[in-house]
Amino acid sequence: MSTLRPAQTTEKTAVDTLFTKIINREIPAKIIYEDDQVLAFHDIAPQAPVHFLVIPKKAVRTLNDLTEDDKALAGHILFTAQRLALELGCEKGFRVVMNCNEEGGQTVYHIHMHVLGQRQMHWPPG
Ligand code: AMP
Repeated sequence: MSTLRPAQTTEKTAVDTLFTKIINREIPAKIIYEDDQVLAFHDIAPQAPVHFLVIPKKAVRTLNDLTEDDKALAGHILFTAQRLALELGCEKGFRVVMNCNEEGGQTVYHIHMHVLGQRQMHWPPG
C-alpha cells in the first residue's frame, strides 16, 4: 500500500481562465446553482442530454494543485454534483469526470467536475 504524497504541481500561479470570468459574470453562462464555495453551469458543448460543470470559486488550476486544505471543498464539489444530477433527472445514473492536465484531456485550467447523464454511458471512455 502506498502512502499519499503531495502531487507535483505544474504551475503555482493562479491564472484567470474563462471560468473565473463566468464566476464574475463577465461572460454569460447558464448557471444552475451557486453558493459561497461553488458554481454549477451547463456545459457549452454538451456531450449528453444533461452535461453540467461544478467548479470551485477558488481558482485551482488542476487536480494536482489541490492541497490538504482543499479536502472539504473537494467533497463539496462532489456532493453538489450528486445533488444537482438528481435534481436534473439523472436518478437512473450519471457519470462524473475530472480531467487532469494535457494527457487527461483538460482544456480549461480551473478545476471542474463534469456531470453527464440521461443517456447510457460506455466504458472505456475515449
Ligand atoms: P475540460 O476539457 O475537462 O477542461 O472541460 C472544459 C469544458 O468546458 C468543456 O466541456 C467545454 O465545452 C466547457 N466550456 C468551455 N467554455 C465554456 C463556457 N463558456 N461555458 C460553459 N462551458 C464551457
